[in-house]
Amino acid sequence: MEFPSWLLTIFGPFSLPMLFSSIITAVGMIVGGIFIWRWYKKFYGIAPASFGSKLLYAGLLLIGLQQLLEVPFTYNVLGGTGSLVGYQLLELVSAVVLFGGFWLLEGERLAIEDELGRILKKEHIRKEMPDTVNLKLPRMLVQSLQWISVGYASALYFAGKKLGAAIIAKELPSGLKPMLNAVGNIFMDLGMGRLEVVDVSATKAIVRLYEGSTAYGMKPINKPVCFFESGLIAGALEAKLKNKVMVNEVLCGGLGDKYEEFVVRIG
Ligand SMILES: [Zn+2]
Repeated sequence: MEFPSWLLTIFGPFSLPMLFSSIITAVGMIVGGIFIWRWYKKFYGIAPASFGSKLLYAGLLLIGLQQLLEVPFTYNVLGGTGSLVGYQLLELVSAVVLFGGFWLLEGERLAIEDELGRILKKEHIRKEMPDTVNLKLPRMLVQSLQWISVGYASALYFAGKKLGAAIIAKELPSGLKPMLNAVGNIFMDLGMGRLEVVDVSATKAIVRLYEGSTAYGMKPINKPVCFFESGLIAGALEAKLKNKVMVNEVLCGGLGDKYEEFVVRIG
């Protein structure tokens, strides 16, 4: 069958599947662009985005635009060396902007990690004010986070886990019991409470936290609240032991208990 020249696409004769894939591309890229835009506004509505995030989003939008431009090329609406060179230039710029964004974001991530390490090590942070803050501040922070959404319980657990793995694990000796004691020393130094190792076996440990800064003496709310602490223990041990570690808080001020009890499961 002979096709008139205007029905010839760069992939050969026009066909319905080709038209559908073009429509899907166009709709998908436009929806994707709107989504990135709205997502960006939602997350950065309260504070300006870092340059790295701006670059990353710009790169994603540029790649969307470049994909959209493939449609007129497919149907020979756009053609010729000039527009092809322009199109490939756009492709190159999109890739550079996108990877630049990734690279800067990675730098920002490393800067946060560096700062967390410095906080743990530093003797004195402030000049005139003491470094102690009122215990009420972290408690209000943790309670308000959990007040916003139950999702923050796992956010706190994973934040603690990441901190434990990246920063605390480096400070730990070998052996499960010495490890837990060293975590206890860090807890004590930070005023988080007195950690006591109650029981240790090869795959399980039980630790208690007396007068824990997050939940000691609180009004029971029918659920545990020391997720950051649980995560921190889990992350530190997991990174040091190079084995899966899960920590569950079974007794907590949030449940009306006099101390916190964490069950550590290894492997
Ligand atoms: Zn607790």
